[in-house]
Amino acid sequence: MADARRLPRNGGDAGNAGAAPPVSRDRCPRCGAAFHCGRHDPEPCACGTVPLGAATLAVLRVRYDRCLCLPCLQALAREARDLP
Ligand SMILES: [Zn+2]
Ligand SMILES: [Zn+2]
Repeated sequence: MADARRLPRNGGDAGNAGAAPPVSRDRCPRCGAAFHCGRHDPEPCACGTVPLGAATLAVLRVRYDRCLCLPCLQALAREARDLP
């Protein structure tokens, strides 16, 4: 019995692997917390208000390609201060 009726899967469950998430919400790459980055806003982002040193900013740019949430930035600023 040759059953030639092969039902194609119309589910389309291939998945969108590698699809970039919408840029509606920012997520901190350090702690994963959702936060809002104001880099697309006319007002400067909160990351500009944290007194981060040039060295810390350089590390952030290399390590993360996006902004961090305010608590993380403040924590990094404190860690940089505690360093001898
Ligand atoms: Zn964070
Ligand atoms: Zn930012």
